[in-house]
Amino acid sequence: MSCASKKYVSLMNKVLDQEATEQEKQVLFEHLATCDECRVHFNELNDSTELLRRLTHPQLPAAFTKSVLDHLPPDKRNVIRKWGSRHPVLTTVAICALPMSLVVIGARRQTRDRSGYALVKVSGDQT
Ligand SMILES: [Zn+2]
Repeated sequence: MSCASKKYVSLMNKVLDQEATEQEKQVLFEHLATCDECRVHFNELNDSTELLRRLTHPQLPAAFTKSVLDHLPPDKRNVIRKWGSRHPVLTTVAICALPMSLVVIGARRQTRDRSGYALVKVSGDQT
């Protein structure tokens, strides 16, 4: 069984971009209920859309910076605070880099799980 219709692929993109009307959503979901091929494709698109969303808007707790700083030894804390107040943009980038790299590693693991590759444990401390 093969689904040749490109119509549903563009509908999937519309739904995931939240640009589809209720009627278009209904058409798509009715088709997904009967078509395995499109359902798998839709799930993959959905996963990568979700991943992109997380990458562009990493969800950091409000107290994230403070809790990172609190875990550092006091002498380093002061150095980092001073450096951070002089380079606020770089500090933000550095703080975002850690959770973003974890998201990327997590996504790679998921992909490996699904395609049957061995799961590689990422070791080492993350600080
Ligand atoms: Zn289909």
